Amino acid sequence: MHEMSLVQSILRILEEQATEQDFTEVRTVWLRVGALSHVDPEALRFCFEAAGQGTLAEGARLEIIAAPGEGWCIDCASRVTIPTHGAPCPACGGTRVRPTGGDDLAIAELEVA
Ligand SMILES: [Zn+2]
Repeated sequence: MHEMSLVQSILRILEEQATEQDFTEVRTVWLRVGALSHVDPEALRFCFEAAGQGTLAEGARLEIIAAPGEGWCIDCASRVTIPTHGAPCPACGGTRVRPTGGDDLAIAELEVA
């Protein structure tokens, strides 16, 4: 599952930060998830709970911040926001929108103890 490998890399980052910043427990993770990232928030939540068992993130809350998809419309040469891959340009209706951002996922904030 795609989400499980994402969660495992998140947990690795959390452990690195715990060592650097000297905390032992993560209470809340705010995760920015791009609209074009193909991530299913429910699956992500499920994996986070399952993979978090026995780690510093056990029992932590996962808050998902939805980030918009960004693209460049070739037809009207403008920067646009798109909800999904392949969505038409909201400005001109053109279908030649190149995704430029919002296709990733990143830790936005942590509440730690
Ligand atoms: Zn356009």
